[in-house]
Amino acid sequence: MRSGGRGRSRLRVGDRGLMEPPSLPKRRLLPRLHLLPLMLLALALGSAFYIIWKSWNPGAEELSPSRELRAPLVGSLPEAKLRRVVGQLDPQRLWGTFLHSLLIVRPPGSPGNLQVRKFLEATMQGLSAGWHVELDSFTASTPLGPLDFGNVVATLDPGAARHLTLACHYDSKFFPPGSAPFVGATDSAVPCALLLELVQALDPMLSKTKQQAPSVTLQLLFLDGEEALKEWGPRDSLYGSRHLAQIMESIPHSPGPTRIQAIDLFVLLDLLGAPSPLFYSHFPHTVRWFQRLRSIEKRLHRLNLLQSHPQEVMYFQPGEPPSYVEDDHIPFLQRGVPVLHLIATPFPTVWHTPADTEANLHPPTVHNLSRILAVFLAEYLGL
Ligand SMILES: [Zn+2]
Repeated sequence: MRSGGRGRSRLRVGDRGLMEPPSLPKRRLLPRLHLLPLMLLALALGSAFYIIWKSWNPGAEELSPSRELRAPLVGSLPEAKLRRVVGQLDPQRLWGTFLHSLLIVRPPGSPGNLQVRKFLEATMQGLSAGWHVELDSFTASTPLGPLDFGNVVATLDPGAARHLTLACHYDSKFFPPGSAPFVGATDSAVPCALLLELVQALDPMLSKTKQQAPSVTLQLLFLDGEEALKEWGPRDSLYGSRHLAQIMESIPHSPGPTRIQAIDLFVLLDLLGAPSPLFYSHFPHTVRWFQRLRSIEKRLHRLNLLQSHPQEVMYFQPGEPPSYVEDDHIPFLQRGVPVLHLIATPFPTVWHTPADTEANLHPPTVHNLSRILAVFLAEYLGL
C-alpha cells in the first residue's frame, strides 16, 4: 500500500466526494429578521413541489436507507461468553500452523504464491462449518509482462443476504532477482494468519450459527497482487482487489442486486504484527465499528485478558489518521462499500525491507489482536 505523508494533501477517498454530499457553507446570507418568513415560504414551496412530483411519479422509490442503517444492532457479549470465545483461540496454532505456512517469498505468479494459495484454499475447505471456497483467477498485464493472479474467496453461507467481509493480501512484494528475500511478515502474512486462526477457533460456533440461517454471514477474501511490481500507481497495484470488486459488482446476489452490495462491512487487515500498532478510524461511515473495537480493547484490558498492554487503550486511537492510505479497500470503497481499515499508521519500521520477518514480530500484539477481533466477530455475527 502507499501512504500520503504528513505534509501532503489531505485528500481522503471515501470521505466527502464519494460517500457524502458536501456540507453547505455556514455563512449567514440574509439579515436574521428576514429568515423565518423565507424559510416558511421555502418549506411550503418545497412540500408543494414534492406532492406534485410524487403524483407524477407514482412508481418512484424512496431513497434506500443507508447501508449502515441495515447493519445489525449488536450488543456486548456476556462475560462468560466472551471468555469462552477468547479461550477458543490457540496462539501455537496461529503461529506454528498458519503463520509459518505463509512466511515464504510469494510474489504473484511465483511457486511460493501458488503454494500459499493452495494452503489457504485447503485450510478453508477443511473447516467443519462447511465454507464455500472460490478462486477468482485471471491474467493481468504488468510491468513484468502478463502474470497470473488468484483471489481466494470463502463464504460461510453463500445464501445469506448480507456478508461481513474480512480481507487481507497474501502476495509478498516482488523484489528483483539478487535482492534479499522478502517474506512480508507484517505485510501481510500476520493478517492472513489472523483470519485463518479466527475462523478455525470459531469453527464450532460458526457451524452452529449457520444452522439457524442468519441473515448475515462471514466472508473472507485472500487477495493477490496488492503490491506494485515496479512503481505504485493505478495500473501497477491492487491487481486482485480491482479484479474482484469488478467481478462482485457483476454477480447477482439474492435478495440484493449484486454480491458487492451484499457486503455489510469490509474490514481490511494490513501491516499487523509489529509492536505498539496505532489504528485510526479512516471513514465516518464506519466510525461506530471502530469505536466498538476500542470498547473491546478496553474491556479485555480490564478483564486482564491482554498481554504487554499497560494502558486501557493502546491500539484504537481517537482523532484523525496521520496519513491517507491507498490499499485493497479502494476498489470496494469506490463502489460504495462501507470500509473499516485496520492498518498500523505510522507503518511498521520494517515496512518493505528484508527485516519484515518473523524475528521482528511481537507475538503478544498478534495474540491481543486475535482476541479483540474474535470478540468483534462473535458480537457482530451473534455467535
Ligand atoms: Zn507492502
